[in-house]
Amino acid sequence: MIRPMRPVIVAGNWKMHTTPGDAGELARTIARRTNEPGVARVLCPPFVCLAAVRDALADEPAGLGVAVGAQNVHHEPAGAYTGEISAPMLAGLATWAIVGHSERRRDAGETDELIGRKLLAARAAGLRTILCVGEQLAERDAGRAIEVVDRQMRGCLAGANPGLAGGDPLGFTIAYEPVWAIGTGKTATPEQAQEAQAFIRTLIEVPVLYGGSVKPENAPELLSQPDVDGALVGGASLDVESFAAICEAAAK
Ligand code: PEP
Repeated sequence: MIRPMRPVIVAGNWKMHTTPGDAGELARTIARRTNEPGVARVLCPPFVCLAAVRDALADEPAGLGVAVGAQNVHHEPAGAYTGEISAPMLAGLATWAIVGHSERRRDAGETDELIGRKLLAARAAGLRTILCVGEQLAERDAGRAIEVVDRQMRGCLAGANPGLAGGDPLGFTIAYEPVWAIGTGKTATPEQAQEAQAFIRTLIEVPVLYGGSVKPENAPELLSQPDVDGALVGGASLDVESFAAICEAAAK
């Protein structure tokens, strides 16, 4: 199959794992163990570990090709928002940001409208951005998966102009993450991922990642789908060998 030339990205979402004391070592080990040609690697540790990961990668020759990302940003650049982190504050710490992860939609009540504002804030601060969308199990079972993804995409992108990527092939990425597959061990079938991601590409021509219990065992088939341009990996990104195997699958 001839696949269009789009960037291939494997991003690790470390969620609320690691500490400033151990995150640097994990990042360094991942950097040494992974270096697949053509695969952009991004590590997204908790905010408090960003500096440790940045420093560890800067001190490590193999760290050169590994980018650091945040797991969230605030929609305003500054203000009376106790406990929040804005996109401009990440200057020098991270070059990527995830927005709209389903765990934040669930736990922080983030709406498509708010996520759209976060997206613009992140892009305005020069961060490469991964926007997450995906349906709940009940929505898939009701045959509404594509409709939900469509609504989320339009809701998040309503305020965004078409030049969101700013001419940078890695500037703006979507992650299709069916909520029922995140952290559950259940994975979308390659056909389900392909269908949703091909649909997303009818709305916007940017890299589209799959996320949801990606593991070394399922990565080769998922990543061989024509509209799967990489993976957003949660649990398996904390395991060096698993993350390395997923990067290898992405390179093929
Ligand atoms: C995620 O955190 O975006 C994710 C897909 O998690 P997991 O791989 O653990 O399902």
